[in-house]
Amino acid sequence: MTRQSELLAAAGTTALGAYRPPSLVLERGQGRHVYDLDGTAYLDLSGGVAVTSIGHGHPTLLNAISRQATRLMHASNLFTTEPAVRLAAELRRRTAFPRSFFVNSGTEANETLIKLARRHHFERGDFLRTTIVSSRTGYHGRTLGSLSLTGQARYRTGMEPMAGCVRHVPYNDLDALRAVVGADTAAVVLETIQAEAGIVEAGDGYLAGVRRICDAAGALLFLDEVQTGYGRTGRFLSHEWSGAVPDACSVAKGIAGGFPMGAVLAAERLAGGLPPGSHASTFGGNPLACAAALAVLEVFDHEKLVENAESAGRVLRGRLDHLVSDAGTPAAVAARGRGLLQGLELADGVDPDAVVAELRTRNVLITVVGGRVLRFSPALTITEAELTEGMTTVEKVLGDPPGKPGPR
Ligand SMILES: *Cc1c(COP(=O)(O)O)cnc(C)c1O
Repeated sequence: MTRQSELLAAAGTTALGAYRPPSLVLERGQGRHVYDLDGTAYLDLSGGVAVTSIGHGHPTLLNAISRQATRLMHASNLFTTEPAVRLAAELRRRTAFPRSFFVNSGTEANETLIKLARRHHFERGDFLRTTIVSSRTGYHGRTLGSLSLTGQARYRTGMEPMAGCVRHVPYNDLDALRAVVGADTAAVVLETIQAEAGIVEAGDGYLAGVRRICDAAGALLFLDEVQTGYGRTGRFLSHEWSGAVPDACSVAKGIAGGFPMGAVLAAERLAGGLPPGSHASTFGGNPLACAAALAVLEVFDHEKLVENAESAGRVLRGRLDHLVSDAGTPAAVAARGRGLLQGLELADGVDPDAVVAELRTRNVLITVVGGRVLRFSPALTITEAELTEGMTTVEKVLGDPPGKPGPR
């Protein structure tokens, strides 16, 4: 038995079973590649699901983590540390949000948004504003509060009852939103691109329209930028494309280059929305995570990664559009998304899981969202040569896809 098969067998009897991973064990990463225990290299076009924003093994990040680990890893939220203050100042400088609150994941950032919405109105004596309005097809994480924001059965089945006072509307439908947002609405929470739903973008004018509806009703607008934020779409935060500015947003995934972290970024008027003692996180904002996040921002600046996300995204879109329009590959029917968060929708007769498996045997890693959409979310450091290499493999596999498309 190889070490890899030994570990896989052990995982089968020790894990709770919430995941169904492929038969390989990853051992290390370098740049945009990860390596399994047998030493096989894979080009990761998923970027660890949009997390490894600066790739693997970046010396700036490694040095920052080891320096901070030597100094101070944990202080608890009872004390101020320099990395946390500096990170908050950096985020204030780069965004429309002067205030921040640090947590450890995307779902915790969204839990914070839900509590911030309710408590903000409560502090102002508006006790009836408790309802959160969100999209039926959205995704905001797996803890119960965040889970309540989605209407998707595949995430909720068997987990009910959900948290109360949530109303779901169809995405990209301003009339439906206008019909439910009112005097009881604490906040509207939406994504700018519904990634898990299949890379579904907000239509032109949608977010600006949502902003107007929220303002007219006295409701807050919160955007979940956990996947779309942090440079991924070619802007630091993806709502910058729309011109609409939310009252707060959640970020996570790429924020600390793979170190677990999340944050809520908020407008000045929300300062005091969570008074002392009303909300907390033991590990949130710990100096090690904040040092990692500061290193990521330093690399963003030094290597112009937000700009690279936009230009590499254009190259990626060119290849995806070609696949969609090329009569030789009827397997691909639509390309969507922005920057380095894009999706390629596969034709009905193509088996997406088989495509992913076939790509893996050809040393390319990718994920499927929305049932039949390949999600491209590589590290923002990806080079044009690597994109070309990866896309050439994708084109080969889709040229003769496993599970042939039926007549169209
Ligand atoms: C990944 C994701 C989350 C959840 O983040 P976790 O860190 O897994 O809790 C929430 N919202 C969006 C849009 C995401 O993509």
